[in-house]
Formats: sequence, structure tokens, C-alpha cells
Amino acid sequence: MHAEIIAIGTELTTGAKLDTNSQWLSIELASVGIPVLLHTTIADDRTANVEILRAALRRSDIVLISGGLGPTLDDLTRQVLADLTGVELVLHEPSLQHIRDMFVKRKRVMPERNVIQAMFPAGSEPIENPHGSAPGIWWELPRPDGSTCRIAAMPGVPSEMKPMFRDRVLPRLPQSNKVIRRARVNCYGVGESACEEMLGDVTARGRDPEVGITVHEGTITLRIEAHGTTESECESKIAATKQLIHERLAELVFGEEDEQLEDIIVRELHRRGQTVAVADEVTGGVLSLWLTAVPNSENCFFGGLIGVVVGRAFNLPALAVHDEHLPHERARQLAQQTRERFGSDYALSIAGSLKTDGIPRLGLALADANGVEVQEHIPVADVSFARNRAAKSALDLLRLRLAHS
Ligand code: AMP
Ligand code: MG
Repeated sequence: MHAEIIAIGTELTTGAKLDTNSQWLSIELASVGIPVLLHTTIADDRTANVEILRAALRRSDIVLISGGLGPTLDDLTRQVLADLTGVELVLHEPSLQHIRDMFVKRKRVMPERNVIQAMFPAGSEPIENPHGSAPGIWWELPRPDGSTCRIAAMPGVPSEMKPMFRDRVLPRLPQSNKVIRRARVNCYGVGESACEEMLGDVTARGRDPEVGITVHEGTITLRIEAHGTTESECESKIAATKQLIHERLAELVFGEEDEQLEDIIVRELHRRGQTVAVADEVTGGVLSLWLTAVPNSENCFFGGLIGVVVGRAFNLPALAVHDEHLPHERARQLAQQTRERFGSDYALSIAGSLKTDGIPRLGLALADANGVEVQEHIPVADVSFARNRAAKSALDLLRLRLAHS
């Protein structure tokens, strides 16, 4: 058994709006053991919609549709469903009454166009919508192979679609005998392809659990998906795969699920009763922003100095850093002096400029009681990415130091 999800709306295909409904529905379905094989996004176009729905009916046991149930001429879902089997749209009086009541409640006159929202393809059922005017459509249709395709068409507005799915669609879906569980392992410090090479057969397609790799601003996320018949079977498969990932990637792995580098750092500093301060003349304060966002950071983050480089001169007058130094030399001085000024156990610094004519080079440094560790950092081309990448690489210096001490 599998499902497919269809998002309808020209605002989606033109790029004006992002289809978040399909993402949400996929996660919901996985949590009840129903895999999703396809997502389709279609404009408000009758012919294209009928074609896609015809294919969906043929290939999927469950078809979830969002969008196109509004009262305006561009909302075609009910008409398309009727076209699919050549039936008429028929009026459902209780739904019309519900729509009239909604307008009375909002102290507005119901335009005649809204009557269409109470029309349903003959043979289908309305799905009540206590959160809005448009009811959904539930329809069980025979498939060519004799089985049944369950179609649920829901409103596009996420605040109406979500409760409709949870309260009225999900209880009607066939029970899956499958359990799907997911987990994420987060890594930093290596490129995506190098990471895959190190993982070897762990990322092979068709493996159970399957492991996918995504990367976001240098953070690699390994997405594990286990299928089984019980939750504990899935959990033990995930645990075994996580162990393999840890063995192969060692300290490139820093966390799980939503954990970021700064979460690990704050947790470790807090546990040890240690502190950090930062100096940053590159990112406009990304390090401070991230660190302060972590709960408990007020106990271990002493603050920071944010500067900018003007020409070749550094405008952090609080520190006596010499202009002419190479970025990594400046980073060294920044980290050392920041640690002294703030009286923290550690100081991190990012030095240099992303706005040079040539290839920008940054310096990262980590100071502690034993000295300063310096790293040259060559930023990626996209400046908006480069800031976050530099900040992550600086945090990673401290993350690894804490792991080793
Ligand atoms: P509709 O049900 O087609 O009238 O959609 C109403 C509104 O819901 C649209 O204007 C969008 O803002 C929003 N919407 C529709 N489809 C989606 C979707 N797939 N993901 C997120 N928002 C959506
Ligand atoms: Mg629409």
C-alpha cells in the first residue's frame, strides 16, 4: 500500500507560494506506516488535473489532494473529480447550510458563488470543515485491478487542511501493517561526497534502513528511514545503523535530530562550568546570535565584540590588533585578546573580509589557557552562505576541542 499527494494551485507552480502541505502530509502518513511514492504540484488547469488524477487513481491506493476547493473560478478540484468518472456535481444541503452559517457568523452576505462549495461529485461524500467554509471531498473509487482507491480532497489553507486530515481523513484510511521510523544524524567538517565515500555501503539504495544525505550550509544530515512491523524493530535497526555511522565518521558526527553545533557547545560548556567569548569582524555577529539562542547559554557565553573591516583597517578599537596582519594572524590576536578581556576559558574569533577584490581568505582561531589554535578558512562563493559557513567552522574548532579535553 502506498499513497501519493497532489498539491493544486497556480500560486504553487508559479513559485509564488511554497507547497508545505505535501511535506506535512508525507510526515503524517509515515508516522502511521503509509509510504508516499509521489508528490505532484499542478496549476489550476482542468486538463492537467484530470490527467494527473487519472494516473493517481491507477497507481495509488490513497490519493491526498490539497487546494482548489475555494469558491472562485480557478478552484477546479470538485469539477476535475467529477470529470474523472463522468459524473455530475450534486448539491449537498447540509454543507450549504454550514457555509451559510459561516457567513452569518462573520456577519457577511454569502455570494452566490459559494454555493459551488456545497456541490459534490455524485457518489462522493463531504468532509466537514469546522475551521472554514469549504468542506473536503471523500471518495472511494474502484481501481482497474479491482482494489479501492481512497481519495481525500482537502482545502489548501494549511490551518484548515491539517485538522481535517487528522480528525476526519486519517481515521478513514486503511490501517497499515507497516511501521516507519526516522532519525537524523548531523555531521560537520567534510564535504558531502567525501562523507558518502567514508560511509561506504551505508548509503546504498534499497538498504534497510535507507540512509539519505542532505547538506545545508556545510552541515551534513544523514536521514535514516527504517521500515518494519513493530516500533522496536525499527528502533533497533536505526540504532545499529547509527552505530555504523559513528564508527565510520567518528568525530565528524556532532549531534542528532535538530541539534546544531552551538547546542553541543553550550551543553558541554555548561556541564563543565566553562565559558566562551567571541570576536568577529566577518559575519556581523552570527556566532553570538547562534550561541545566545541556545537555552542556558547565559551561563557560559560571556559576550562578544563585533566589528567590520574597513579597507584593510579593523574597526574594533577595543582590541589592539595590527592592521597589516594576515587574516589568520589577526584571528590569533583577536582570540587571545578577547579571552583576556572577557576572562573566559575559551575565545573564538573570525577575522578577515568577504568583500575583497581577490579570493577572500578568512582566519579562524580558538584561544584557551594553553595557547591559540589557528585555521585558515577559504569561504564559499555565495556571501550569504559564507558567513554561516565561517561561523560553523569556528564553532567546530571549539566543539572538537571540547570533545578532546
Ligand atoms: P485553495 O484551497 O486552493 O483556495 O488555497 C487557499 C490558500 O491556501 C492558497 O492561497 C495558499 O495560500 C494556501 N495553499 C494552497 N495550497 C497550499 C500548499 N500545498 N501548501 C501551502 N499552502 C497552500
Ligand atoms: Mg487555489
